[in-house]
Amino acid sequence: MIPAAFDYVAPTTVDEAVRALSEAGEDAKVIAGGQSLLPVLRMRLAAPSKLIDLGKIAELRGVREDGDLLVIGAMTTHYDVQHDALIAEHAPLLALTTNTVADPQVRHRGTFGGSLAHADPAGDLPAPVLALDAEMVVRGMDGTRTVPAAEFFTDFFTTALRPGELLVEVRVPKTTGWSAHYEKFNRVAQAWSIVAVAAAVRVDGGTIAQARVALTNMGATPVRATSVEQALVGRPATAASIRDAAAHAAEGTAPPSNADADADYRRHLARVLTSRAVSAAVGA
Ligand SMILES: Cc1cc2nc3c(=O)[nH]c(=O)nc-3n(C[C@H](O)[C@H](O)[C@H](O)COP(=O)(O)OP(=O)(O)OC[C@H]3O[C@@H](n4cnc5c(N)ncnc54)[C@H](O)[C@@H]3O)c2cc1C
Repeated sequence: MIPAAFDYVAPTTVDEAVRALSEAGEDAKVIAGGQSLLPVLRMRLAAPSKLIDLGKIAELRGVREDGDLLVIGAMTTHYDVQHDALIAEHAPLLALTTNTVADPQVRHRGTFGGSLAHADPAGDLPAPVLALDAEMVVRGMDGTRTVPAAEFFTDFFTTALRPGELLVEVRVPKTTGWSAHYEKFNRVAQAWSIVAVAAAVRVDGGTIAQARVALTNMGATPVRATSVEQALVGRPATAASIRDAAAHAAEGTAPPSNADADADYRRHLARVLTSRAVSAAVGA
């Protein structure tokens, strides 16, 4: 189907984009890589009066270091996240997760910030961003504010972004030297997650010293598996103790039942995939 008619602007700075968004009112929409938005427009599930294209704003692209943080521009493509040397060294969980997103064509167009702003419960990037305690930097006409990942994803396809605000960049605490893995269960290759688990672990002398675990598609928003994290810390990095800790993975979750899987099956997957994710991360 062909989308309904809309006006279109392509600003070259964040300030211009924020002004254009504010002037256009609540009917306007931002477009990043278009990989989620264009299908919605083509099915006429949305009919914005104006599209504000972020594609020409160079300041929104790229990865840089800021002390103990990595700063990732919202318009950095999935492909660039996969191949960035700073991310490989200081936040390997993000690269490993992005490797599982869609196919090369989508990864060349789709963006890190677009995936987070879209907040699809089955989308892969919100869980690792939550696990890593990242912060979202958002900008509107009233200025810039920072929202912790734990407060950013508020419901199905809903974030803490207010009308007129843009996600500008994501600040990710470095996990240099940590082991990481993203374990994704999907029905066919290159599809969204039925359930997936993001894990980053620091092992010291054979013992798990720090652990971060978050779950994809176990509720309306990504879920931090805090019981698993607590059960892992201080335990040997062995398959048996990881399996014991992973038994807590479904605690505090509210998984959906739908045509892909019912809630009980998802709870089972969460336990199995958590065990696999942490074991793969530490090589147990
Ligand atoms: C065939 C196919 C398979 C896919 N498979 C997967 C998969 O396996 N896993 C997965 O996670 N994703 C998958 N995706 C989605 C893909 O990752 C998209 O790139 C992503 O969801 C949206 O990124 P985008 O840059 O294309 O955003 P867009 O589609 O341009 O925008 C998405 C939404 O976010 C808003 N938005 C975008 N950027 C900003 C910003 N900076 N500030 C405020 N709002 C913003 C837009 O207004 C829109 O509402 C798939 C997509 C396709 C087409």
